[in-house]
Amino acid sequence: MKNKYTILALVAALGVVSCQEKVPADVVGTMDAKVKDSVIVYEEYMGDEPTKPEETEFYEPKVPVVKPGEKGSAPSDAIVLFDGTSLDNWISTNDSTAAKWHLNKDGSMTVNDKTGNIQTKQNFGDIQLHIEWKSPLPVQREGQNRANSGVFLNGIYEVQVLDQNDNPTYVNGQVGSIYKQHVPLAMASVPTGEWNTYDIIYHAPEFNKDGGKIKSGDITVIHNGVLVQDHAEIKGTTPYVGWPKNPPHGKGPLMLQDHGDDSRVSYRNIWVREL
Ligand code: MG
Repeated sequence: MKNKYTILALVAALGVVSCQEKVPADVVGTMDAKVKDSVIVYEEYMGDEPTKPEETEFYEPKVPVVKPGEKGSAPSDAIVLFDGTSLDNWISTNDSTAAKWHLNKDGSMTVNDKTGNIQTKQNFGDIQLHIEWKSPLPVQREGQNRANSGVFLNGIYEVQVLDQNDNPTYVNGQVGSIYKQHVPLAMASVPTGEWNTYDIIYHAPEFNKDGGKIKSGDITVIHNGVLVQDHAEIKGTTPYVGWPKNPPHGKGPLMLQDHGDDSRVSYRNIWVREL
């Protein structure tokens, strides 16, 4: 028995050595953070401890000034994708012709059933997105067929839009989910017929030259002021059937879903800030 434990200890020790060889301390980490013996250290803070407050204060580079939006409007540096006046920034996903959704007099747009998804003409990478949506009254249908739409980041990763009020469905496909991938942390919808807000922060995945994913993207979603996705790792595309896939991609459009079942979902006040 003693010999057995000795061998196990040797194997374990060799494993540790081999791990350390694979991940040398000076390879893992960012500019100012490194992993040393599995612990994060900050080299910039490893010198002599400062004794004066000025030694830990800096003034450059300057921080850009952004004027916040008033009453829900876009901040000064945002790209406004929809302000209620036209659909000019959008095209039909199917054939790249003009978007065929309804433009309403109240400054919103509504899915035009079975005309297909619409997407922005402009492509984006990492973004902060603000978008407002409303599920219609009277309600009709159940589950995934009640006011189903979706916000597709990079054109392929869906944050679910659904009328969830008194309408149970699979939790990884409910409102605020990263569809079939991440259950939301909360159900934070307002009553049907009222306007919801999504504030979304999206970081795109990164791919190597051979098309392999080398860094996952992530999505944070705040639904009506409530955190429902917290840096959720994007594991791939968000299909209705099958596993997530990881096709390499660069920037892509923002896409809104026509679910094709008379969803009558409306959107308004859509803007992004590129990160
Ligand atoms: Mg959907």
